[in-house]
Amino acid sequence: MRYAIVGGGIAGITAARKLRSLDPSAEVIVLQEEPYLYYLRPALISVLAGEKTLSEIVAFPPDWYEKQGIAYEQGKRAVRLLPERKEVELGDGTRIPYDALLLATGAEAFRPPIPGLAEREGVFTLRRAADVERIIAYLKRVERAIVVGGGLLGLEAARALVARGLSITVLEAHGWLLPRQLDPPGSEVLSRILEDMGIEVLTGARCRAVRGKMEVEGVELEDGRVVEGEMVLVSAGIRPRVELAEEAGISVGRGVVVDDFMRSDAPGIFACGDAAEWRGQVYGMVPAAREQAGVAASNMVEPGSARYGGTIPSVRLKVVGVELLCVGNTQPQGGPHSEACYADPERGIYRKFVWDHRGRLTGAVVLGEKAPQLEALVRSHIAAPPILEELLAGTYPEV
Ligand SMILES: Cc1cc2nc3c(=O)[nH]c(=O)nc-3n(C[C@H](O)[C@H](O)[C@H](O)COP(=O)(O)OP(=O)(O)OC[C@H]3O[C@@H](n4cnc5c(N)ncnc54)[C@H](O)[C@@H]3O)c2cc1C
Repeated sequence: MRYAIVGGGIAGITAARKLRSLDPSAEVIVLQEEPYLYYLRPALISVLAGEKTLSEIVAFPPDWYEKQGIAYEQGKRAVRLLPERKEVELGDGTRIPYDALLLATGAEAFRPPIPGLAEREGVFTLRRAADVERIIAYLKRVERAIVVGGGLLGLEAARALVARGLSITVLEAHGWLLPRQLDPPGSEVLSRILEDMGIEVLTGARCRAVRGKMEVEGVELEDGRVVEGEMVLVSAGIRPRVELAEEAGISVGRGVVVDDFMRSDAPGIFACGDAAEWRGQVYGMVPAAREQAGVAASNMVEPGSARYGGTIPSVRLKVVGVELLCVGNTQPQGGPHSEACYADPERGIYRKFVWDHRGRLTGAVVLGEKAPQLEALVRSHIAAPPILEELLAGTYPEV
């Protein structure tokens, strides 16, 4: 069997390894448009901070691929799918035949339609190694940087730029930081910690325009305030890369629509990771990309052999000196959920627990202290009400 994988990130690599382990005689080719061997995308933050080099975050040496029996074609972009011929076309016109194809094309950073954002020099997003290289090359001209978006990535980037000696302002349009994970009291605690690190945080800060002639000079907010800075880093979410699927007539929503077997609606074509939309969700995180890739590979080798049932999200803020772990459903939208929280802004501690109508713990946030048991507690869906007092006091039982 010949398997083609478009995209050589964590989803593509995980699937390639699984394909080879399930079918040792399989031919596996990974097409990767970026001109690098597979690197750990989350570790780009350490490169931005100047703590690591790009070569230090490359996962495997070149001979690893050969030993694994994986043809990793870096710098090769797939430009067209020909599902009826079971071929994928590269930029130079070469066509690669396959028996089954996996779209693991990931996502790109979203650039909101803010006037001046597209045209000004000094506006960046952060998704790829090339973005980090461009940002680092530009830093010479920068003393003050503005990060648009106070989500996880925005805050990690802000900390990285502080480590480079820049003065940073984070603009978050919502009324609080990490709107997908925290609520206002939690954000309050986090803002204080960040401000102690030299990161200015403005919430409810909606951008009206990016100021400057050729180069960025600042950002104008809708309430009339102006934040000055020579660089803008936009961290406003992701857009799955669906262009190949879309052009081939494959069903696409936010991502490439897949079923529980990670199959798209085109025979023999699967999708996983940030590119895929499963039951209306695009996870945009490593654990989901890994799990989906494993399921996709199993079904590519043996149809119907594995089913995906969703991933319990677990995210940790990778900011030195800040312990923040969010597991499961921390902002339940509707449904009969209950929640309780404890906040101590002076000590920089915040704890929040969410449980469902049966009392089962479905989500938790802990800020300001280590909580290694948290993931296991949420995954085991422990009964929350009987131990709520202990949880809120920061005493976590072992499960
Ligand atoms: C700075 C940063 C920090 C992050 N930190 C975390 C974290 O702490 N925890 C977490 O869970 N997640 C984190 N994420 C998100 C995480 O990196 C993604 O969820 C994960 O990389 C998704 O993997 P993927 O393989 O689906 O996509 P990607 O990693 O985006 O890989 C897809 C690859 O496919 C290539 N590609 C796309 N189209 C084509 C084509 N037509 N032809 C050939 N190649 C193509 C792309 O160039 C890309 O290299 C972070 C992301 C960033 C940017």
